[in-house]
This record gives sequence, C-alpha cells and structure tokens, in this order.
Amino acid sequence: MGTGTEIVAVETDFLTIPLPRPLVTAAFPIPAIDTALVRVRTRAGHEGVAWSFAFGRGRVAALLQLVDDLAELAQGADAAMPEALWARMTGAVGFVGRRGLAALAVSAIDTACWDILGKAAGLPVYKLLGGHRDRVETYASQGLWLDRSREELVDEAHGLAEAGFRAVKMRAGLPDPDEDEARVAAVREAVGPGVKVMIDANQAWDLKETLRMAERFEEYDPYWLEEPMPHTRVDDYAHAAATMRVPLCTGESNYFKDELLTLARRRAADYLMPDLMRMGGVTEWMKAARICEGFDVAVTPHLFMEHSAHLACAAPNAVWQEYQPWWQPVVAEPPAFEDGCLVLGDRPGFGIVLDDEAVAHHRV
Ligand SMILES: [Mg+2]
Repeated sequence: MGTGTEIVAVETDFLTIPLPRPLVTAAFPIPAIDTALVRVRTRAGHEGVAWSFAFGRGRVAALLQLVDDLAELAQGADAAMPEALWARMTGAVGFVGRRGLAALAVSAIDTACWDILGKAAGLPVYKLLGGHRDRVETYASQGLWLDRSREELVDEAHGLAEAGFRAVKMRAGLPDPDEDEARVAAVREAVGPGVKVMIDANQAWDLKETLRMAERFEEYDPYWLEEPMPHTRVDDYAHAAATMRVPLCTGESNYFKDELLTLARRRAADYLMPDLMRMGGVTEWMKAARICEGFDVAVTPHLFMEHSAHLACAAPNAVWQEYQPWWQPVVAEPPAFEDGCLVLGDRPGFGIVLDDEAVAHHRV
C-alpha cells in the first residue's frame, strides 16, 4: 500500500480518571471512569485519538486486550478507508459476539481513523461528514445525581444555570416515588422556566411505573424522560411513547444500527440516543443517525462530547449534545462553550489535544 494514511501503530493506554465524588444512578454507583485510550498512528505521522470506557478495571483490561487484538488487523490498513476496516474488525469478532466489549474496542479504532481522515484532509470531522452546522446545544449532565440531598440538587442546579447551560439532566429512580417527584419539583423551581430539565431513570421502572411517574412529572414540564424501563423492552417503549405526554428518550444501551432501526421503526421513543462506543464508532453512528432521520426521529448523542459533538453537527436530525466532562482532565484545552452550545472550530479531525502529563498521571 504505502500511502501516508497507512496504519503503522496502534497504541493503548489504561487510564483511570477518578471522579471528585462518586456518581450515583438508579443502575449503579460509579467511583471512576476507567478508560481505554487508543492512539492510531500512520506512516505520514498522523495521530488519531479516541477512547472507550467501562466501570471497573478488570473490564477495561479485557477491553484493552481486544483493542490490542484488533490492532493486528489494523496494522497496514488504510485509516482513510474506515468502512473497510470496520467490516474486517466486526467480522473478526463475530464468533465472540459483536456487541459488548467487542463493539467498544472496534469503536475506539474506528473513531481514531476518522480523526486521522480529518487530519489528512485538513478538515474538522463535522465538515468531512457533511457539515450541517458548527455548534450544538448542550445539556449539563455532570451533576444532579441520586445521592444529592434536595438542598444539594438545588445548589447544583443553580450553579449549572449560572454557568450558562440552557438545559440540565437530573436522575430519578429512587425507591420512593414521592421523593423522585419532590426532587424534580425542586430542580424545576431552581432553574426556572427558561431552562430545560431532562430526567434519566436509568432503566429503574416497568411500564406501569413509567406511565405513573411520567404523569406525576408532567406538571414540571420535563423535556424528556430517559430510559425509564429496561432498554430491551421495545414493545413497552412503543406503548409508552404513544401514551405519555412527556417525551420519551432511549437508545444509549443499544448496539449498532439494526437496534436503532428497530427502535425508530417501532416509534419506541421521541428521541433516540445512539452511543458512540456501542455503535462501534463514527462509521456506524452516522448510519444510525441517518436511519433515524429517515423515520423523522431526532437523535441526541450519548456522552463523548469531544467526539460526538462533531457527529451532532453533521446530522440534521441531531439535537442536544450531552455535556459530560469526564475526560476533560486529560484534554489540554476545553471545548469552546458559548450560549450553552459547544462550538466547533476548524481544527482538523476532532481537534482534541491530549495533555500528555495528565495522561501519564492517570495511567494505571
Ligand atoms: Mg442515560
């Protein structure tokens, strides 16, 4: 081959980025973000940067093993042909199953290739993908967890609104539904009518509880109710979406475009939330977004704002990038934030510059 975009090395780092305070959701508590950082290098010297993560060092160790395994396939491949490499990688992991860790490993390599593609073309990724706009509205997702007292919730909500966010996401799914409602009321009052409030229940309820809670939340005007039920219950989501007056959101736990196709076709939610790593990277994420566009369903990217904001800016049906600064400790410059939006510049690729010292500091 011998082109400049030929992959000559895939380097991996195991980072654990402690959180200032463990997160508490209805699904599980989270003390740190255990991350598989992947850097793909080309013959011409481009570096593509991406990462996947899990909660738990053993799981990330297994993820890194899979990345190292797939790196052998990537050696010598053309980073400027991510579709070809994606097909080879997902084919190779077919026997152990494409979902789960395998998708996360494929995602990091695929996403790094898109970073290289942008750098080789001298274009930011959102323009490379078709460029619909250069900024995307964000909602603050870094606070309002279940362990916060009501007073802490109110303080955090004020702080986020003062920081310029025009939308905030809080969590629900406590054992006591009265407490859930009181917390939603408190956050709504704290941010006022001008700030949108998303509510994430992290799969805590069944269909009947979901319908009951959606009715109770209605007077506080939530922008969406996210993942109230186990994500596999597509029939229940379709029923809830057709029944609830509060908009419904799901999709972050689903894998690949075929699961998003099922959700979109069944009208299982008002907003679908493809996750970069569960889609297996940029290549498949954009297909999922296009499929949803074909069904007139909005997509909203799950996490990974440093990468996913580019995808949101390329997809006309994308709304509301989740603002979650988990990886900001290892990034040299924060993304531009104006009027509640992430604003993308003209830096080639994803424009992410790692802070090498911080990477070394967080390396396991
Ligand atoms: Mg969620």
